[in-house]
Amino acid sequence: MTPVTITQIPVGEIHCQREPYSRELKTSCIACSEKPDKKGFYHVKLHDTVLFPEGGGQPYDTGFIDDIQVYNVQRKKLEHIHYTKQPVPVGQQVFVKLDWERRFDHMQQHSGQHLLSAVLEQEPYFIETGSWNLGATKSYIELESGEKKQRMPTAEELKQVQKHINQLILDAAPFLVHTETNNDSTNKPDSLPEDYVGGGTIRHIEIKGIDRGNACCGTHIKHTGHLQSLKLLHSEKARGGNTRLFFIFGQRVTDTLDASLIVSKQLNTLLSVPQESFVENVTKLQQARTTNQKTAKRLMGELAIYITNDIATQLKGKSVVSLYREDADMEFLQLISFAIRDQKLVDNNAEMNRAVVLAAGEKHVGGPVIILASSDAIIQQVAKTVMAGLDIKGGGKGRWQGKAKNWKGIDEVQKQLDQLTV
Ligand SMILES: [Zn+2]
Repeated sequence: MTPVTITQIPVGEIHCQREPYSRELKTSCIACSEKPDKKGFYHVKLHDTVLFPEGGGQPYDTGFIDDIQVYNVQRKKLEHIHYTKQPVPVGQQVFVKLDWERRFDHMQQHSGQHLLSAVLEQEPYFIETGSWNLGATKSYIELESGEKKQRMPTAEELKQVQKHINQLILDAAPFLVHTETNNDSTNKPDSLPEDYVGGGTIRHIEIKGIDRGNACCGTHIKHTGHLQSLKLLHSEKARGGNTRLFFIFGQRVTDTLDASLIVSKQLNTLLSVPQESFVENVTKLQQARTTNQKTAKRLMGELAIYITNDIATQLKGKSVVSLYREDADMEFLQLISFAIRDQKLVDNNAEMNRAVVLAAGEKHVGGPVIILASSDAIIQQVAKTVMAGLDIKGGGKGRWQGKAKNWKGIDEVQKQLDQLTV
């Protein structure tokens, strides 16, 4: 790093925390690494910034320093570091611009999480939040069961919570920030990171009339009205009997509804019924599929017997019979091989040596092959002919099984098998 002459405004007091709605700022670059790191990023220190460094569960901001893109912002103790792919000249005035859409979304989810946790923590629920996660499309709070054997909210309670919070959004209750000087040894809350040391400021976020305050470094909305709307999603069991309750606030509610409507429209076209009939319609389709599968299985069984009878007739005139069907699969070959075994067509007690080759699959895709014969020696003899003419791998005693990469040479192989004497 180039030596620092101007000090940096520490995390806790940076512009994005004091003025979370500020989208740009004139400041100066006080340091920049001379070379990029292993991942190709320069580490840039600005005097102050409108880009929030990741912390408190809130992801980092992105934006620009002049026309240089900022990919990431991180906190190191009380310092903030911007990650760029081009160096930023040190000692010059710079103009920092925030990717506001990404940030405002984070503000809605983060402030929303404070409100959701506060409501659940109070009468009549008394359910505490252990941790939370802000995801790319949905977020969750983790309600810890833990030693306290905390109960989890019922579906009915969650409905009430959602209704209550959407009412609090209409009330536009202010978010207030209270600050105090960080004294590492006496007043550092447990929720602060271990390396948040060396002075700085601790910020407490109050939701007026709802939540008395939580230590939090995040950037928050002005009042609950800016949350726009809450939709609680599903909940999921997590380790230790915990429950993850998923939620979305603000624009994400509309985005999620949009995505659902697209799926609904596609299903409407596919099924030719309105949304309220989707479940009934798909249930009918599943039942029909089960019936069709049963019918297909029965017919395949019958067809396998007919084919086996035909093989039996052919075996009266020659010692090797081969069958290749493009439309068949392993399951069908198995049915034929079982019928051949049941009819004792290639038994080693038979008076005559015999072999049957069964192959299936489309010409260019290939597929399974089974060789059945009166003895292992005959199996090997037949397999040799099959392998010589086809791109195939396989093996086995008593019954040879393999897989061809394609069936391009099958006509020629069948001709040779026809003339083979075993
Ligand atoms: Zn927070």
